Amino acid sequence: MRLPPLDLFIDNKWVSAGGDKIVSLDPSDGSVIAEVSAAGEAEVDAAVGAARRALDGEWRDVMPSERGRILRRIADGVRARFDEFVDVEVHDAGKPLAHARATVEGCIGYFTYHAGLADKIEGRHLPLGPGYLGYTVREPLGVTAHIIPWNVPISMMARGIAPALAAGCTAVVKPAEQTPIGALQLAEVIIEAGVPPGVVNVVNGVGEVAGALLARHPGIDGITFTGSVETGKDILRAAADHVRPVVLELGGKSPVLVFADSDLELAAEEACKVYKNAGQFCDAGSRLLVSSKCREELMGRILERTRKVRVGRAQEDPDMGPLITGEQMERVLGYIRVGEEEGCEVLAGGGRPDGLDDGFFVAPTVFDGVRPGMRIAQEEIFGPVLSVIPFDDEEEGIEIANGTAYGLAAGIFTKDIDRALRIASRIRAGSVWINEYWGPGEVSVPFGGYKSSGIGRENGQETINNYTQTKSVTVRIRAD
Ligand code: NAP
Ligand code: MG
Repeated sequence: MRLPPLDLFIDNKWVSAGGDKIVSLDPSDGSVIAEVSAAGEAEVDAAVGAARRALDGEWRDVMPSERGRILRRIADGVRARFDEFVDVEVHDAGKPLAHARATVEGCIGYFTYHAGLADKIEGRHLPLGPGYLGYTVREPLGVTAHIIPWNVPISMMARGIAPALAAGCTAVVKPAEQTPIGALQLAEVIIEAGVPPGVVNVVNGVGEVAGALLARHPGIDGITFTGSVETGKDILRAAADHVRPVVLELGGKSPVLVFADSDLELAAEEACKVYKNAGQFCDAGSRLLVSSKCREELMGRILERTRKVRVGRAQEDPDMGPLITGEQMERVLGYIRVGEEEGCEVLAGGGRPDGLDDGFFVAPTVFDGVRPGMRIAQEEIFGPVLSVIPFDDEEEGIEIANGTAYGLAAGIFTKDIDRALRIASRIRAGSVWINEYWGPGEVSVPFGGYKSSGIGRENGQETINNYTQTKSVTVRIRAD
């Protein structure tokens, strides 16, 4: 695997941080793949300072259409090194080849979409009547902080910085400490694409240090955070100190509702997407709510599919790879024990798969007999675990679907279009998919959480609202 410089990236320069390092492991076998410079206070300060100078300097004078061209060059740069980016996702994040490729495509998709948006961020004319000209301008928010999780590292980074740059902001990025490499690789592309110094800065490091320092830095104008609810609350508190806006993309416990009139083979296939990325998706359909009328038949199909999931090392392109760390693996195994203690029946999996002891693997697991109030039905496991909960009628299905602290996504499977739309309108979640889970995954579809799943929306044209603020200008036109 070709590695980028393993330093911090500040002001388009590679900067080493006096000895502090974080270690990236390959989750497929636990081997060390890199030691990467970790930022402390001085480096976070330097990065925020560089972003501020760029904002008030060269970047401010770049035409919106030129910002678009720069973003397109970043997309082209990632495309030109596609296999290198894939390689890093496979080894740094433990993603099976096919999923690693999709992740890198996702990254390119973000830059391409926002390249087109850069010169379409328009204000409005305000109708104030004769004697006045009123208009609004959508100005860049300023220096934006981006704190990234490890589950889809390169595409989550692009999801934040592509719209930020399109809107004329500058960015300081803190990747997850488990997956520090892709951001540095993207930094190489950023230099090649002609992005002026200071517009994008990368400060790898530990969340409680680099992340916390960045979130509470007075030089930051806004924070985009993707991660757990607990850390999200810390980010909110840090932002409160300086009254800064936040975008929080947090966890989920998303339901997949299956009715007896649905295409059960399709529903089973889609429900088994919970094993994708070893269940490490915030919007994984981790609760299967099944009508008691089709439960037996659906469960048969799900178990058949679950047993066929090929688990293996990421570079061998299995259906499912490892979890990100040994700690995450233990956390998921802990939840499996909780499920057993709560009296649920393990129909598949339930532990580590054979023959992969050096990596961080958990077998695809199905829990039956789950009741809506149980911990494994309420808490985000973030692993390949499906909790199956039966319901008797539509009303009960909706109640269970909405009955958690989360509200990120939901899937509905039925051939009855009236029922599907009735339920879609009553689901308290930011994304609803009907007769498919996840949809085509296009950047144009807004994404974000109701309730504790977050604040704000990313993707789609709405994202630009996160990175702009509106100024109104009123002109008095006096008569001769
Ligand atoms: P996490 O522990 O909250 O970490 C997320 C990021 O925050 C990491 O970069 C982390 O750095 C940093 N961090 C940790 N403590 C911090 C602090 N006190 N101040 C500032 N930053 C801090 O989450 P995770 O375990 O990496 O990711 C999994 C979670 O992300 C799940 O809950 C998942 O649902 C959620 N997620 C949500 C979305 C969405 O779009 N809604 C997408 C993906 C993931 P370190 O890595 O160094 O700790
Ligand atoms: Mg790693």
